[in-house]
Parts: sequence; C-alpha cells; structure tokens
Amino acid sequence: MQKIAVLTSGGDAPGMNAGVRAVVRTAIYHGLEVVGIRRGYAGLLDGDMKPMPIESVGDIIQRGGTCLYTARCLEFLTEDGQRRGYERLQELGVEGLIVFGGDGSFRGAQKLHHLGIKTIGVPSTIDNDIGACDANIGFDTAVQTAIEAIDKIRDTATSHERTYVIEVMGRSAGHIALAAGLAGGAESVLVPEVPYKLEDVVAKLQRGVARGKKHSIIIVAEGAGSGAEVGRYIEQHTGYDTRVTVLGHVQRGGAPSAADRVLASRLGAHAVELVLKGVSGHMAATHHGELTSVPFDEVFRAERKPSRAVYELADILSI
Ligand code: ADP
Repeated sequence: MQKIAVLTSGGDAPGMNAGVRAVVRTAIYHGLEVVGIRRGYAGLLDGDMKPMPIESVGDIIQRGGTCLYTARCLEFLTEDGQRRGYERLQELGVEGLIVFGGDGSFRGAQKLHHLGIKTIGVPSTIDNDIGACDANIGFDTAVQTAIEAIDKIRDTATSHERTYVIEVMGRSAGHIALAAGLAGGAESVLVPEVPYKLEDVVAKLQRGVARGKKHSIIIVAEGAGSGAEVGRYIEQHTGYDTRVTVLGHVQRGGAPSAADRVLASRLGAHAVELVLKGVSGHMAATHHGELTSVPFDEVFRAERKPSRAVYELADILSI
C-alpha cells in the first residue's frame, strides 16, 4: 500500500483535527502518502481533495471543528454515487480510506469496503451513541462545554431564585444530558431513552421548594422534548419564575479536551496501523482502554444507551 485518504463526515466533533493529524503523521511515518478529502463524501464525488504533507496538520491538534470540513451527501446514499466514489479513489491510486464520523458515515464507509477499498471508521460524534467502544471523539468536550454553561446559569438561577430549563444536544441519545445533569447537579434530567411525566418533574420541584431550595436546574435532551415547552409547563403548573436556555451549537465547537485529543490521537494512529495490516470494514476503537477494532456490522447492532444506573444515581443525588 502506498497511498491512503482521510475524510471527516456527518456532524463535526471536537477532536477530529487531532485525529486527522494522527492519521497523516502515522501514515507518513510508515512511508505512505496521504490525500485529504474535503467535505466528506461530497468532496470525494466532486474531487475536492489535496495532498497532506506533515506540515499540513501543524497547529491543529488544539482546534475544534475539522480542517477538512464536513458535509452531508445525499448522492452517496445511491449505488451510483458509491460506485463513482470508488472510481475516484481508484483513479487516485488510493487503497485505504479513514473515515471520521458517526453511524451514517460508517455506512458509507462500509459500501466502499464492499467495493474493494480498505476502509476504517473512527467514532467521532458528540452524541456518544456509537457503541462497541469505550467512548466517541468529541463527547468529553461537549459535556465539558455544557457543564461550563450550566455552572454559569446556576449562578444567575441562585441570585434570582429561579427555575432554569436547559436544553442540550442529543436528538436520539441522552448521553450529554445525563453526564451534564449528573456533573452539573441538576434537579431532573430528561432523556429520550427513559419515559417521563412532566407532573413528576413538577412534583419533585415542589418538594425541593418546600424543603427550602431557592433555585432548580432541569436538563432536557433535545430528543426528549422541547425545553421551551417543558419551561412553559413548569411555569403554568407551579407559578415559579422559569427561564429556558437552549445551548445549541456551542456544544459542537471549542478546543477539544485533553481526553478527546488523546483518544483521537490513539484512534487515528491505530486506524492507519489497521489498514496497513489489511483490516477493512472495521471501526478503530478502545475497549477497557485497550486499542481494538470492531466490524461495522457489529457496530451497527451495538447502539449505546445511557446507563440506567447513572440515570438513577442522578435522580437520587438531586432529591
Ligand atoms: P453521521 O456520520 O454523523 O451519522 P450522517 O448520518 O449525516 O452523519 O451521515 C453522513 C453521510 O454519510 C451522509 O450524508 C451520506 O453521504 C453518508 N451515508 C449515510 N448513510 C449512508 C448509507 N446508508 N449508505 C451510504 N452512505 C451513507
């Protein structure tokens, strides 16, 4: 093998740059050439790519976002699009492809694997819903960002004796909400995976107020409901002064945490080692801290759900 390519796809995640840097430098260390494909599968089909020498990844380990840009590409969902992608890589002499992204990006990578390109996925999504591994790149940073915001909102909640509803990201997964809720000392955490009743949330708030609580924080994952509606319900049913903050895309950006940089560096380097060994159609992963790889089919079956025990702990600690 002489040449590999790397792309970032789907939603961006802090740490993708550290991962791309690790891919480029490990590949060059092993005597490979690296092509950087911009804007995910869209850039592959458009021919939007560039050679990546050592210096092209200097000064990016600490940056959020992705220097390769990312995009969603509908054309790549079609067999015709996938074949064109395969042909592009063939024309370039690319034999291996490293894909940073989430579940959808891995499904695209698996199609290229079936067509004959050696592909390795690297789990990168702040949602942390890719299972069969310890952690996904970007999650640690996103939780840290959410906590910083929650701590600040708590200051004003205390000063004004208010109830705050904070909506965090997670359309289908409550990992950010649960981790931020536990670490931020929230009174209630609403996640898509656990059914809830707003009357129970209200009853808990009222019990807290009866015991002398001056302020409360409710964390809502976007997939569990609208923060605005939860806030309206609470205000209507309690009369408490209630405000709503939607954290939104601040959770996607920012300098990656040390943990995300370490994870991305390890997984990026490991992905290159795997393609060099001839492994394909796998995700690079850590399991109990050790590097491993998992076939995509197994990854697709192993969606990660928030821990029920942690959910119950958050509830107990917020009585
Ligand atoms: P994520 O990787 O974060 O889950 P998406 O689901 O948006 O993000 O997927 C990113 C891109 O991967 C899509 O725009 C599409 O180009 C490609 N992709 C997604 N699903 C498939 C699929 N089933 N087959 C081929 N390509 C896919």
